[in-house]
Amino acid sequence: MSVFEHPAFDDHEKILFAADPETGLKAILAVHSTARGPAVGGCRMWSYASSAEALTDVLRLSQGMSYKNIMADLPIGGGKSVIMRPEGEFDREALFEAFGRALESLNGAYISAEDVGVSPADMVSARRATRHVVGLPDGTGDPSPVTARGVFMGIQACVERGLGKADLNGVRIAVQGATGHVGAYLCRHLAEAGAELFLTDIKADPLEALARELGAQVVTDPNAIYDVDADVFAPCALGAVINPSTIGRLKVKIVAGAANNQLETRDMGKALMERGILYAPDYVINAGGIINVMGELDARFDAKWVSGKLETLKSTLGEIIDTAASQSRPANQIADELARERLSEAALAKAA
Ligand code: NAD
Repeated sequence: MSVFEHPAFDDHEKILFAADPETGLKAILAVHSTARGPAVGGCRMWSYASSAEALTDVLRLSQGMSYKNIMADLPIGGGKSVIMRPEGEFDREALFEAFGRALESLNGAYISAEDVGVSPADMVSARRATRHVVGLPDGTGDPSPVTARGVFMGIQACVERGLGKADLNGVRIAVQGATGHVGAYLCRHLAEAGAELFLTDIKADPLEALARELGAQVVTDPNAIYDVDADVFAPCALGAVINPSTIGRLKVKIVAGAANNQLETRDMGKALMERGILYAPDYVINAGGIINVMGELDARFDAKWVSGKLETLKSTLGEIIDTAASQSRPANQIADELARERLSEAALAKAA
C-alpha cells in the first residue's frame, strides 16, 4: 500500500495510523490542511475490505473537508478519520476511547465530529481521552436541519439560473434518500415552497408516511429515481450516484443535493455539463452542517452568524454556477480551482 504515491495523497500534512490491539482499534486520522486553523471533519466507521480501501476513503474525504471548509470561508482546516469496524463483538465505548487517545496525540491539529457509522454517544466516549471532539449531544446537536436549509437555499440559486424561475412553486424535484436526516428536512422545505416532489428511499414505511404528509409521489423502486421526468435531482443518500450508468438516464436540468462525493469521478462534472445539466458542487451546497458545528468551537458562531453564512453559501454557489456558464466549463472544476487557490493563499499567509 503506497501512501506518498497514493493518487489522493494531495500533500496531506499528517496521517496517523493508530492501532490498539486491546480494543481492536484500527484507525487512520488524516490532516489535509491546517492553513486556516485546526483541521475539522468527521470520523467514519465502516467495514472496509482492506486498509488500502480505508486509506483511499480517508484521503478523499479529508481533502473534501479542506475544500468544503475553505469554500464556506470558515477559520478551520480540513481533516477526516476512519475506523475499520472490528469484526464480531467489540466494546464500543473502549474502542472510541482508544480513538480519543489517538486523536489527543495530534495535539489539536485535528478535531473530530461524527460521520457515517458514528454517533454523538461515540464522541462522548472519545471525549474521555481528548477535548478535541465536537458534535457532542450537549453541543450544537444534529447538523442535518442546517445542512438541509443550506441545500434548500442552494436549490433556489440553481433554479433561478437553470430554469429562470424566482421561486420553487411547481418545480418538479426528485429526492433520493428522502427519509434520511437531511432528506426529510429538505423535503419539508421544498413542499412548503410549492415544489412537486418525487421521493425515494430504501426505507419503504417512512417513505410512504413522508409522501402522505407532503402530498408527494413515491418512487417505489429506488433505482427508478434516475428516470423520473423532473426538473431537479437532489441526491441525499450515497456518493458516486452520478456515474456512467446513471448519467444517460437523467431527464433533469439540475443536480443539487446533500450527498458527499456525488460524482463518481471528477470528469462526470463535464459529462453533466455536456448534457446541459447544471451541477451544484456537493461540498459547496452541503456545508450547512459544518457551519453549524462551528458554534461548538467558539460562542461567536451563534445562530445569527449561521444564518449569514448560509446566505453566503447561496451566493458563492451562484457565483460558481455563473462563472461555469460564462466560461463553458464544469462547475465542479471551477469550485475545485477556487478551493485550491484559497488553500494556497491560506498556506502562504500562514507561512508569512
Ligand atoms: P442518513 O443516513 O440519515 O440518510 C440517508 C438516507 O438515504 C437514508 O434514509 C437511507 O435509507 C437512504 N438510502 C440509502 N441508500 C439508498 C438508495 N440506494 N436509494 C435511496 N435511498 C437510499 O444520512 P444523512 O445524514 O441524511 O446524510 C445524507 C447524505 O448527505 C450523505 O451522503 C452525507 O454524507 C451527506 N451530508 C450530510 C450532512 C448532515 O448534516 N447530516 C452534511 C453534509 C453532507
